[in-house]
Amino acid sequence: MFVLLKRLQHLRRTVALPAPARPGSLALRHVDCGSCNGCEHELTNAAGPHYDLERFGISVVASPRHADVLLITGTVTTRMAGPLRAAYAAMPEPRLVAALGDCALGIGVLGDPDQLAGPVEDLLPVDVRVAGCPPTPAAIAEALLDALDLVRTPRREDRR
Ligand code: SF4
Repeated sequence: MFVLLKRLQHLRRTVALPAPARPGSLALRHVDCGSCNGCEHELTNAAGPHYDLERFGISVVASPRHADVLLITGTVTTRMAGPLRAAYAAMPEPRLVAALGDCALGIGVLGDPDQLAGPVEDLLPVDVRVAGCPPTPAAIAEALLDALDLVRTPRREDRR
């Protein structure tokens, strides 16, 4: 166990993303609107010890009332459109929406069109887009760090 911890410490120092000089925090509320779980798998990797996003103040919260970012994976099914809008409505301002993966971006990897409400962009204002099927953990980590910068940006009126 000790050797494993030392190895993880080494990886974090030599390979992982450099620590930015940006204070603050970012609370994520993740909603799976109809994914194959591939995006969740990579999201879990991005949150793991290699990238260690918690050191940047990025964490996942259980309630949209405590969230800065609504992080959406999967194609939005007709059944999930209502709960997705409700989660967004419950979030305090300022709030961001992140569409993670090609399905959320409406590229149409998964799903029967009759059962889909459309891409996230048709339902909510999307601020952060992470393409890929699934996106790599590095791409997810970079996008979340960009979202951390966006949360601190005062010009919120540019967003829909
Ligand atoms: S983008 Fe790919 S990995 Fe992500 S939910 Fe869709 S099919 Fe699965």
